[in-house]
Amino acid sequence: MSAGTVLVVEDDEAIAGLVALYLQRAGFGVLHADDGETALALWRRDHPRLVVVDIGLPGATDGLDLCRRLRAEGGTPVIFLTARSDEVDRVLGLELGADDYLTKPFSPRELVARVKAVLRRTGLPAASPVTELAGGAIQIDPARREVRVGGEPVELTTREFNLLVALGDHRGIVLSRTQLLELAWGADWYGDERTVDVHVAQLRKKLGTALDLATLRGVGYRLD
Ligand code: CA
Repeated sequence: MSAGTVLVVEDDEAIAGLVALYLQRAGFGVLHADDGETALALWRRDHPRLVVVDIGLPGATDGLDLCRRLRAEGGTPVIFLTARSDEVDRVLGLELGADDYLTKPFSPRELVARVKAVLRRTGLPAASPVTELAGGAIQIDPARREVRVGGEPVELTTREFNLLVALGDHRGIVLSRTQLLELAWGADWYGDERTVDVHVAQLRKKLGTALDLATLRGVGYRLD
C-alpha cells in the first residue's frame, strides 16, 4: 500500500529529483511543482498528505506565501526547506506554524525521516480526492472529513463517516458486514455485525434518498 502522496515544491531540479527518489523508495507517491501557483493547483487537485516546500521559489508566490494559502484552505502538514538559517525564525513563526524544516544542504534520508515523523505526529489519514455520489448531490471530502448533501454540510459521527467512505471507495461492489467493519472500524473491531445495520440506517436517515444504497439480504450492502 502506498504511504500516501507528498507534494514537493522545489525549483532546484537536482534537489527535487533526489528528494523524490528517496520518498518513492520509502513508498510515497510524489508530485512535483517548481513554483507556488503550480503547487497550489496540484494540491487542490490531489490532496497530498504532506507538502515539502522550498522557501525560495520563482514567481509571485514564494514558499511562505504558499504555506499561508494552504493553511487558509486546509490543514495539510508542511515541511520547509530553506537555504538560509536566518529564515528559520520566520518559518517557525506562529503565523505559519510549519510542522518542521530542514536547512540546505540536508540529507534526503533525513527528510524522509522527518516526513514520517510529521505524519505520525499529525496522524492524518491518507487523504483522497472528493467523491461525488448521486451526480454530485452528495459530496464526500475525506481530507476535511466533510459530507455535503445538496451543498449543505451534514453532521456524521466518525463511524458513520468511515462507513460512508468505505462504501464510496467501493461503489458498485457488494460489501459484506464483516468487510465493512474492517474497512470502517479497523482490524481491531469487536462486537456484533448488526452494528453495521444500525449505522447504515443512520446514514440513510441523515443523507436521505440521494444515497443510492442497496441492501442485499444475507449478503451485505452496495452503494451505486
Ligand atoms: Ca529555490
